Amino acid sequence: MSLKAFDKHFMVKEGGRPSLARIDPRDKSFFKSREEAEESLAEDTAAINELQDKLYAESKQSLLLVLQAPDAAGKDGTIRKVFGPVDPLGLKAHSFKKPTPEELSHDFLWRVHRKAPAAGEVGIFNRSHYEDVLVVRVHGLAPSKVVEARYEQINAFEKHLSFYGTRVVKVYLHLSKEEQRERLQERIDMPHKNWKYNPGDLEERKRWDEYRKAYEIMLRRCSKAHAPWYIIPADRNWYRNACVARLVRLTLEDMKPRYPEAEFDPTGVVVE
Ligand code: ATP
Ligand code: MG
Repeated sequence: MSLKAFDKHFMVKEGGRPSLARIDPRDKSFFKSREEAEESLAEDTAAINELQDKLYAESKQSLLLVLQAPDAAGKDGTIRKVFGPVDPLGLKAHSFKKPTPEELSHDFLWRVHRKAPAAGEVGIFNRSHYEDVLVVRVHGLAPSKVVEARYEQINAFEKHLSFYGTRVVKVYLHLSKEEQRERLQERIDMPHKNWKYNPGDLEERKRWDEYRKAYEIMLRRCSKAHAPWYIIPADRNWYRNACVARLVRLTLEDMKPRYPEAEFDPTGVVVE
């Protein structure tokens, strides 16, 4: 299957105006069944592992996967399932939290650029510079003029990364409000999930509609040919995982990483 066919199903076209209300978070039309999706996940993660090995050996280009989502959509779980079997040496995952005073004393891209993957690496951003047009927008943490300017700044930054060999791919995990309610309730009711509960999540949930608007603006203004956004339905974990794994695999295939040519003539060389 080609990246083009995947794009047709999930990618936000440059200049497109996606309406999240019109996309079903429970959609599962990309796979015939749960079994098929689970088989696909296993095959894709094995392929990702091989492709990542080539990317690392080649050491010329990198992949950056950005994950954004409402609370409890499963960013962490997605990363575990998609990259679990992959050699951790070639992976660089980073979670962006509330900025520290030092981070706040720089421009918003400063902390992000430092965590961008080096040549040969696959970088994963669990939250990202997009928080600066999401939570910051919804809570008015920066003047609206500043937030408005950031979309173009983000586009320029991602273009800069791609010019220097980083393929940027962004995933929005599309969770329904009802599914989030169930998942947050589980975090409260099930002792082994209590550690995941953060009372602040309920405050954010009250702003669901404002967040939704902010996500739509982000998807509309920042999905570019050099750094596309993908909307992945996330109410079903098995579907979410299989779709993201497929995207990562197809993107890596499209990057065509190659093992470098040996810099010596191996003919007749025998290790005693
Ligand atoms: P989980 O989904 O498992 O709860 P998480 O990613 O929400 O994990 P937390 O430590 O609970 O991790 O939350 C990180 C918080 O940091 C989020 O509320 C996020 O909005 C906030 N944050 C991240 N970047 C920024 C930023 N630039 N400005 C303000 N807040 C930010
Ligand atoms: Mg949280």
